Amino acid sequence: MSADRYEVVIVRYGTRQTKRSDVFLNYGVYGLPDAPIGMDYFVWVVRNAERTVLVDTGFSAEGGARRDRTTLLPPTEAWGRLGIHPDTAPDILLTHGHYDHTGQIGHFPGSRIVMARAEFDFWVGPFARRAQFHHSVEDADIAQLVEAERSGRIDFFEDRIRVAPGIEMIRLGGHTPGQAVVLVQTGEGPVLLASDAVHYLEEYERDLPFMAVADLVEMYAGFDRIRELVADGVVEHLVPGHDPATLDLFAPYGPPLEGAAAVIGRLS
Ligand SMILES: [Zn+2]
Repeated sequence: MSADRYEVVIVRYGTRQTKRSDVFLNYGVYGLPDAPIGMDYFVWVVRNAERTVLVDTGFSAEGGARRDRTTLLPPTEAWGRLGIHPDTAPDILLTHGHYDHTGQIGHFPGSRIVMARAEFDFWVGPFARRAQFHHSVEDADIAQLVEAERSGRIDFFEDRIRVAPGIEMIRLGGHTPGQAVVLVQTGEGPVLLASDAVHYLEEYERDLPFMAVADLVEMYAGFDRIRELVADGVVEHLVPGHDPATLDLFAPYGPPLEGAAAVIGRLS
């Protein structure tokens, strides 16, 4: 087994019901009927025999409750079942600063965090408290990030970073200023963890931007960039950030995450 090939575990930890006009930006533009739509919440684990990396950390109990989200399996419990404990201090790749991705940073006080500089700067900057942005973050989570930065635990990047052999982060922006995606090499081909650059596959396939957006042009350009990566074979498996169909697209992980997880490039 080579050190630059990983398995990607996709864990569904939460869910909610909403409607299409509440998730797609200016939905009336398309003349499509409104309808109910689900939204699921995921954390991702990238690992092999030598390395374990977490991609995002889910929402905190407080952050989820404040927004009426349903927790299906607390991320801390899912990591525990996978044998990932705080004392192992796995690297955390943070795709962006929203509450449903940052909620458990405090669970891993010794971990290195990797994120786009633009993302951190935005959430400690002057526009973060404006209502259209602030509703998507938890102040407690941002405070944890600030503390992590002060103690030198954050590795920042501008547009692209090689986190480890076979793992890269790429900043696309759009949804948030530093929204990043994670490209992982597996035995089943390269995987793009799109996080919130693509909440729903439909968003990407039908060019339907998401309602929460910092820069709409960057968001459209992000879709185009991902299409190029797919067309060029740089990406073989696209994993959306919130699509309820996700677990059906890939092999079930099975125990100890029966019904809650899928896997790409299984190693054991
Ligand atoms: Zn999200």
